[in-house]
Amino acid sequence: MKIWNLTRYHLNARSESLVPVTGIWLAIGYVIVSAAPARRLPYLTSQRLPTEQTRYRELSERGQSPAVMVIGCCDSRVSPEVIFDAGPGELFVVRNVANLVPVYQPDGGAHGVSAALEYAVRALRVKHIVVLGHAQCGGIRAFIDDIEPLSPGDFIGRWMAMFIKPGEKVEQRERESKQDFTVRIEKAAVFRSLENLMTFPFVQTAVERGELNLHGAYFGVAEGSLFVLDPVAKEFHSVREEIAST
Ligand SMILES: [Zn+2]
Repeated sequence: MKIWNLTRYHLNARSESLVPVTGIWLAIGYVIVSAAPARRLPYLTSQRLPTEQTRYRELSERGQSPAVMVIGCCDSRVSPEVIFDAGPGELFVVRNVANLVPVYQPDGGAHGVSAALEYAVRALRVKHIVVLGHAQCGGIRAFIDDIEPLSPGDFIGRWMAMFIKPGEKVEQRERESKQDFTVRIEKAAVFRSLENLMTFPFVQTAVERGELNLHGAYFGVAEGSLFVLDPVAKEFHSVREEIAST
C-alpha cells in the first residue's frame, strides 16, 4: 500500500482510503526562558497544547489507535511528528540512536524496541511501520569512525555493534568519498532495520497476511527533504519528485 501521497510528507494512513491529512500545525511554540539557571530544566510552554484539547479528550476517552508506527533516531532535528505533520494519536513512535531495530531475541532480557514493536503490532495492530533514517546521523558517524567510548559502559559502541552481522565488514569503497560512504551507511541502517523487523514472527505473519506494511524513509536534514524507499528497486526516491510525477 502506498502511503506517501504527500504535500508536506503526510502519511496517508488514517484510513484505508488514503485521504490526505489536512491538519496544519502552525502553532508549535516553545518559549524557553533563557535566563533559567543551568541546573534547572528550561521552562517550556506550548501554544499548541490548548488548541489540541478536544483531540486529547477524545483520545483519552476512546484510547489511541494509530495506524502508523515510526522507528526513528533520537536526533533532535528528526522529529517524526514534524516531518509527517502528525497530530496527537497518529504516530506510535520509537526513537533510538540510529533508528535501529535489533534482531528478534527472546532470551529473557529486557528489550525496549522489541517491547514497543510487540505492542504496536499485537495490541494496536498498526497497519504500517516506517523506519526513518536521516542524514548527518551521529550514531552512524560514531560507528564508521569507530570513536572512543564516551563512558566506561560504551553504550553507543555496544548499541551500534548490532548494526553489523557477524563477519560482516563495513568499509569505504575505492573512489567513494567520506560523504557518500556516510550516506550509504545511513541508508543501510534503514535496510538493516527493515530486515531485522522481519525476524520477529508476529511481524512476519502480519506482513504475509497483508495486514502490515513495512516502509523505509530517509530525511535530509539540510534541505528538509524526505526520501522514500522503493522496495523493488531498493533505492530512495525524493517525495517531491514523486508528487511532481503524479
Ligand atoms: Zn541519527
